[in-house]
Amino acid sequence: MSTPAAQHAPGLASSENGTAAHARALTKAYGSGETTVLALDSVDVDIARGRFTAVMGPSGSGKSTLMHCLAGLDTVSGGEVWIGDTEITRLKERELTRLRRDRIGFMFQSFNLIPTLNALENITLPMDIAGRKPDQAWLDQVIDTLGLRGRLRHRPAQLSGGQQQRVACARALASRPELIFADEPTGNLDSRSGLEVLDFLRNAVDELGQTVVMVTHDPRAAAHADLVLFLGDGRIVDEMGRPTAETVLERLKQFDAHRGRGEGGGPAEPGADGGPDSTGADGVAPVGRD
Ligand code: ADP
Ligand code: MG
Repeated sequence: MSTPAAQHAPGLASSENGTAAHARALTKAYGSGETTVLALDSVDVDIARGRFTAVMGPSGSGKSTLMHCLAGLDTVSGGEVWIGDTEITRLKERELTRLRRDRIGFMFQSFNLIPTLNALENITLPMDIAGRKPDQAWLDQVIDTLGLRGRLRHRPAQLSGGQQQRVACARALASRPELIFADEPTGNLDSRSGLEVLDFLRNAVDELGQTVVMVTHDPRAAAHADLVLFLGDGRIVDEMGRPTAETVLERLKQFDAHRGRGEGGGPAEPGADGGPDSTGADGVAPVGRD
C-alpha cells in the first residue's frame, strides 16, 4: 500500500502552474535536549498553485506546525520554505510581516478575533493595518457568501461559535490573498455552515485561481480538495488525488489497521503519540479536536 519512494515521493507534485509554496528538508523541533519534540522531520512538499490541498493525519502528527511554517508564522529549525519565488526562511522579520500581510490569509483553529471590534472591523483589520482599501465588490461577495451581512455590527461575544468562525474566514479572504491556509476551518461549525465555508474555499480556487491549504479530520471536508496529503510523525507518508469522502475514509482505516497490527508505515508509527486521539476505529473522524 505504501508508495514506493523511488517512483514518486508523496507531497512532491509536478503542476503545470508551478508551486505557490514549497518546502525542502523542512525540520521543526520544539524544546531541547531530552525533551526535544521533532514536529517536522525533513519534509519536502510542493503546494500546487491554484489548487486545493487538504492535510490530514493523527493528532500531533505536525499538521498545524507545517501550516505555520509554510505561512511564515513560525520559525524553522532547518530547511527552506518558499512562497512563490521568495525563500521566506531567509527574510528579516519586517519583510516577512509584509509578505504575510500582502500574500497570505490564515484561518486559525481558534478564531483569534479582537473582542472589542465588531465583525466588520475584525474582517478588515489586516487591511486597515496595512493602510489598504478593501475591494468593496469582493468584500461584499465574501460577506454575503458567508452569511454575515446581518451580523457586521456585532462583537465576537455577541456571535455564535459558527458565526465567529465565519468572521475569521472572511478576514482571511478579505484581502484576496493568493495563498490561504486554513487549520480545521470547519471544526467548530455545524454541517451546513461548514459546507458553506468549504464551498467558498472551493470557489476561491476554481473561480479566482487562489491556492488553498486546509487541515481537516473530516473525510467529507477533505473531499472538497484536489489532493490530500497524509502526515504521520512529522513526515508526509502518503497522498491521494481526486479524493472522495469514501476513498479518504478507506485510506484512514488502512492506516489505523497498520498501526493496530504494529506494521508502521502509516501516518503514525507504533508507539507514536496521538494514537488514542486519531481517527476512531469505527471510521468516524471526530472533528475539531486538537
Ligand atoms: P497537529 O496539528 O497534527 O495535531 P502539531 O503540529 O500541533 O500537530 O504538533 C506536532 C508536535 O509538536 C506534537 O507532538 C506537539 O505536541 C508538538 N508541539 C506543537 N507545538 C508545540 C510547542 N509550542 N511546544 C512544544 N511542542 C509543541
Ligand atoms: Mg493542529
